[in-house]
Amino acid sequence: MKASAFAYARATSVANALELLTAHGEKAKVLSGGQSLLPAMNLRLIAPELVVDISELAELRGVVVKGGVLTIGALTRHVDLLKSPEIAAHAPLLRDAVTHVAHPAIRNRGTIGGSLAQADPASELPACMLTLGATIVVCGPSGERRIAANQFFAGIYETALTPQELLVAVELPVIPKSSTHFFHEFARRHGDYAIVGLAAQALVKDGQFADLRLGFFAVGDRPLLAKSAGKLVDVAVTPAVLAEASSALNDELDPLEDQQATPTMRRHLAKVLLTRCVSSLLARPDLCTG
Ligand code: FAD
Repeated sequence: MKASAFAYARATSVANALELLTAHGEKAKVLSGGQSLLPAMNLRLIAPELVVDISELAELRGVVVKGGVLTIGALTRHVDLLKSPEIAAHAPLLRDAVTHVAHPAIRNRGTIGGSLAQADPASELPACMLTLGATIVVCGPSGERRIAANQFFAGIYETALTPQELLVAVELPVIPKSSTHFFHEFARRHGDYAIVGLAAQALVKDGQFADLRLGFFAVGDRPLLAKSAGKLVDVAVTPAVLAEASSALNDELDPLEDQQATPTMRRHLAKVLLTRCVSSLLARPDLCTG
């Protein structure tokens, strides 16, 4: 299928893009890498009257580390994240996650801003933003807004962005050097959207978690930063403690049913991921029952 007829404008600056979005409101759509927007238009799931192409705005591209903050421009492509020495040094969780996003052809065009604005609940990067405590920076007609990642994702394909706003950057606190991470997802084939996934970041001291952040995805209508992680912090993680955290996690999840899995299967897989994550981060084979 082909998209319905639409007008096209290539934005010459962020200000120009905002002018176009303000003038056209819900009838306009931003185009970054086009890896989600264009398939949706071709399938006629959406039919914007105007496509505002921001892909040439160089000021929205790149990774910078300054004052303990890693700033990633919205147009930074998945492939750029994979190759960035700053990401490898300061947010290696993100690098591991990106290897699971689609395939090289899509990673060569798709951007972090597009991925977060798309807000697919089975997507890897939104969950990483929760785990890493990101701030999403957006610009609109009334200036800049900074939104904590846990306030940004509002449901299936829904975010705190208004139709007049542009996601311009993501800010991540630089993680302590002693911090470790875990990323894994279950998918039918490598590159498919996850059936269930987990992006975790931890501080381990004397064989215990001093901090643990568990960002699950494909377990509900949006990514989830699991509160159950608290049950594993500052305690000796015995099989009984892990079982208690696992059971608490069960109550937090609200998985959806689709062709890939039932909610029961998703809950089970999330608990398997939790067990693998904990045993991997603490290097405890006795905890690895999944
Ligand atoms: P676009 O397609 O350009 O835009 C996506 C949406 O975000 C649109 O609604 C657009 O208007 C809006 N938008 C884009 N940029 C901005 C901005 N700066 N400010 C405000 N709104 C904006 N994704 C995964 O996460 N995991 C996968 O495993 C995965 N597998 C895929 C497999 C296939 C075959 C395909 C075609 C896609 C897959 N995707 C996957 C989706 C895709 O990789 C991402 O959603 C994509 O990279 C989004 O980035 P983009 O720059 O292409 O966004």
